[in-house]
Amino acid sequence: MRRVLERGQIEAGAERPPRIRLPDPARLFAARAARFRALAREGAIGSSIADYLHLMAALADAQHAALDAIEPSMLHLDEGSVDGGTRLPSVVGPYAPIFRDVLGLLVRALAVRGDLPRSTREALERLENASANALERYADALLARRDDQIDPATAPFVMAALQVPYAAAAAGLSPSDVESRIGAGEGCPACGTLPVASVVREDAISRGQRYLHCALCATEWHLVRITCSHCRSVQGLSYLSLDGGPDAIRAECCDRCKSYRKILYQETDADVDPVADDLASLTLDVLLADEGYHRASGHPLLWNGR
Ligand SMILES: [Zn+2]
Ligand SMILES: [Zn+2]
Repeated sequence: MRRVLERGQIEAGAERPPRIRLPDPARLFAARAARFRALAREGAIGSSIADYLHLMAALADAQHAALDAIEPSMLHLDEGSVDGGTRLPSVVGPYAPIFRDVLGLLVRALAVRGDLPRSTREALERLENASANALERYADALLARRDDQIDPATAPFVMAALQVPYAAAAAGLSPSDVESRIGAGEGCPACGTLPVASVVREDAISRGQRYLHCALCATEWHLVRITCSHCRSVQGLSYLSLDGGPDAIRAECCDRCKSYRKILYQETDADVDPVADDLASLTLDVLLADEGYHRASGHPLLWNGR
């Protein structure tokens, strides 16, 4: 006779799913590069979005390679510098030398490509010629989202250079320290940055749980499903997708605050990546703008000229 466990018994015996998933930088950027490439292949060949996805794949490859330039000791924050070293700084200050090194590596990795649009080539040249102080001030403007100081053409590359040390540093945090700050604000409990999208994870430990994904350090934190990630409303939510579009991505739209973030389903597609899939589904953003919804936060690798 087979004994069938009741749901409560299964839950009591099983390990509680984590509320925090710290990034694994050794996997993060390589997997993202592969995802960008796969999504670019699905898009129309020669379309501008496919070209941009290919460029972002090369950028993610360069991020992965740049991890080698990071000395773990450079990421160590002094006791008491920020919350006893358990929270990441909201300014580039402590990571400025790494950030500049990584940015240099990313710019040089992309500059050798022969297929860059002129605007991209010029943006990379501006970054190459900028002073250390100017780059640091610019990075801080991006982290604080001071829109009037942001150049949409260079922002994706600077943000990509920031993601590398922030993800590497987040990987070394204590999950329980980070967990204690979930819900303290809309932003990431590790670094304070707004999430880019959310993902319902389907691996062995996080089965069916939904996590918000930080646009900067890639930390993921739990949020109950059917909850607006912006205003926390649990009513008036709808899940919109494109007719004929991928089933693994929808927009969680809130009628209370009229905002949305996309939600990805690993059960439908194991390879979804919040940064890559959100960018590749721009058509959905256009549709949602027509419906009167606005993005709860921007994309780290695509900045609008505002
Ligand atoms: Zn973060
Ligand atoms: Zn809302």
